[in-house]
Amino acid sequence: MHCPFCGAPDTRVIDSRLSVEGDKVRRRRECPQCNARFTTYEIAELVIAPVLKRDGRRESFREEKLRTGLLRALEKRPVGAERIEEAILRIKNRARASGERELSSQRIGEWVMDELRNLDQVAYVRFASVYRSFQDVNAFREEIERLQQAPDAADAG
Ligand SMILES: [Zn+2]
Repeated sequence: MHCPFCGAPDTRVIDSRLSVEGDKVRRRRECPQCNARFTTYEIAELVIAPVLKRDGRRESFREEKLRTGLLRALEKRPVGAERIEEAILRIKNRARASGERELSSQRIGEWVMDELRNLDQVAYVRFASVYRSFQDVNAFREEIERLQQAPDAADAG
């Protein structure tokens, strides 16, 4: 890390300790050039990257939008609210853990499909048909056939 005082390209860590809460690391640094000492903090970045849409626009990740999409696909299906919330949490964790600077809406769609495939296959097909927009009728038929042939596809995940 550069010295904020003289701009020297490298500084030395002279002390490093974990905060009481365990959520950040505090480091004392010293500049070998001007001998200035300063402190830096290292924290995990838990912010979810912005979403890059198909039309090239970016928007911030919206949990509400994710929930609306899942609920729409799961309408009148026997899946409890708790399981839906767990699915949302897993998708958010994947988004955070991806480490990408931006997430394509396509990628998020794939994650949603992963969850729906395990939650409810009817909901999965509903979502996939809208999401992939199955312009090709054959593609839609193939997807249905694939699901029918592999009733335990959810476990093979
Ligand atoms: Zn310096």
